[in-house]
Amino acid sequence: MKGTNEMKIIFESRSENEGFARVSVAAFLTQLNPTLEEVADVKTAVSEAVTNSIIHGYENEIHNIEIRCRVNDRLFVVEVKDTGKGIEDVEAARTPLFTTKPDLERAGMGFAFMEAFMDRVIVESKPKEGTLVRMEKTIGKGRELWTTQSL
Ligand code: ATP
Ligand code: MG
Repeated sequence: MKGTNEMKIIFESRSENEGFARVSVAAFLTQLNPTLEEVADVKTAVSEAVTNSIIHGYENEIHNIEIRCRVNDRLFVVEVKDTGKGIEDVEAARTPLFTTKPDLERAGMGFAFMEAFMDRVIVESKPKEGTLVRMEKTIGKGRELWTTQSL
């Protein structure tokens, strides 16, 4: 049992900060001894959510993005929150290939990636209020035997 731990960061919605956010979350995640693949999965998912806040939530205006991370035993939870324009129809937005910005060469695959790389993705959004994306992943799945042996 590793217990719980939490962190929160707030940063401006500048594209330079997308890398900062990704690396900060990865650094926090290391306490769960993730594999390189698990780190890569989480980084990709965070990157997609942050990019969405910058491009869609704030439409490239500069406002704050907040990330909260929590670990509870082997469960890792990350939330990416903006107070931007919000999503009219969350179900439609989550559909692969759906994008409201096809002109910007968006593939409409961000949510599909988040879902593929994380165990669970919850989206709470209200038009004109903002968007919260909560993603969960259990770290060390299938390595239980290894964990027991190493104790
Ligand atoms: P890609 O991620 O492949 O570049 P995309 O960003 O359009 O393209 P998704 O990340 O799947 O695709 O998001 C789908 C749609 O959901 C977006 O086009 C946008 O309309 C809406 N959306 C996603 N995140 C937000 C957000 N934080 N605020 C407002 N709208 C959002
Ligand atoms: Mg996207």
